[in-house]
Amino acid sequence: MTDTMIDVSKTILNEYPLCNECLGRLFAWLATGTTNIQRGRSIKLVLLMIGDEFLRGGDRKKASEYLQILAGNGMMKSARRLAKDAGIPFELKETCHLCTKDDSVFERIPRITNEVDEILQDYEFDTFLVGSVPFPQLVERQDEICARYNLLNSEPLKSSFNREFGKKLFEKLKREVDFSKPEIVVIYDMLKDQISLQVNPLFIFGKYRKLERGIPQSRWDCGECKGKGCEECDGTGRRYLDSVSEYIGKPAVKIAHAARFKVHAAGREDIDALMLGDGRPFVLELSEPKKRKLNLEVLAHEINKEAYGKIEVHDLEFSERSRAQDLKKDASENIKEYVASISTEKEISEELLRIAEKRFKDIEIEQRTPNRVAHRRSDLVRVKHVYEIKLKRKEKLLLEGSFKVQGGTYIKELISGDEGRTKPSLTEVLETPCLCTELNVTAIYTGKPDHNA
Ligand SMILES: [Zn+2]
Ligand SMILES: [Zn+2]
Repeated sequence: MTDTMIDVSKTILNEYPLCNECLGRLFAWLATGTTNIQRGRSIKLVLLMIGDEFLRGGDRKKASEYLQILAGNGMMKSARRLAKDAGIPFELKETCHLCTKDDSVFERIPRITNEVDEILQDYEFDTFLVGSVPFPQLVERQDEICARYNLLNSEPLKSSFNREFGKKLFEKLKREVDFSKPEIVVIYDMLKDQISLQVNPLFIFGKYRKLERGIPQSRWDCGECKGKGCEECDGTGRRYLDSVSEYIGKPAVKIAHAARFKVHAAGREDIDALMLGDGRPFVLELSEPKKRKLNLEVLAHEINKEAYGKIEVHDLEFSERSRAQDLKKDASENIKEYVASISTEKEISEELLRIAEKRFKDIEIEQRTPNRVAHRRSDLVRVKHVYEIKLKRKEKLLLEGSFKVQGGTYIKELISGDEGRTKPSLTEVLETPCLCTELNVTAIYTGKPDHNA
């Protein structure tokens, strides 16, 4: 007959001093719904009862075997008392083989719980999770025992420690434990006896309008000095002094006491294009925020005050990472509307304008990567859908064009033809060189509902 776990426990205890928690952990998947401490205590109690039975039955040799183990490596008070009373000698052990380096890591829990509570005073959060970096040596010891005694139901030190630590922290902090999307992860390093925090980012969805030309979407450093400051950029380190991202992110960083920000937007307009209409959807990511319960109306007000006349945000709402990813994924599937001023070399007849409108009704066009962005985009031909172009004459050599196109369509090139790299183009169909002199984005349809249901 194979040995039962009681026999195996006795063999292991004969070899190693183990506390209740660590003995129980070796059999953690057996009879769930209790704690490892209870498991360990129960195993030892059964062994003690067996020893006592031998003692009472007069088998002193057998009894000594059990009592010596339990009083020594078992670190069991009641066994020590019984052994003493019966005059059975034993070797006193006080440090557990599987959880003790200088002290037991489980015994550190009350102290580090208080330390974490202290550190977290500065943070606003509703959910948390604990993690730990265990002593490599203790992990090795447990692996060794499990391999040697073929223990298939043990639990790693780390997972048991995290649970016990988490329980204590939950009692103290009175916040929810969230396993999938915690706002803060508390990590305890056993070796360094050190607590660190992983403060997860805060995501805010919104839409921006750009009311002034010459502002890039993201920070654009000087190409000469890469941001250090040189003659070329008057020591500013910047090619453009401001950006849409910074107008949105900087006030938010201040209000949330965050470390950094990132703006994820549904595509981007050219530097010299305005973003009008209902605005462009974006998700603002704030890293390591200390404040999470932001008043978004106040935030919008702060951003709009700082960026007055340049950038304007609205419809701010709390969101999550997946929405930022959706924005990027969707960008080329969005439908966008633009209004452009178009100068022509020759005067164009009304008739030809109508022909051009018909020609561009619901067609696919081919755009090879434009010359002006070739340095940062790979050279390939993109097929884009043009839903509609409406053309109006404003002056003799000036048209106003309204475009409804698939996201990612290069409008300037759709107008100019980009030396034949975009086909067809207005230049081609109107049979005269056309040039975009002003461009505004007037609508972006993201294909997703504006608000989370
Ligand atoms: Zn232990
Ligand atoms: Zn420079």
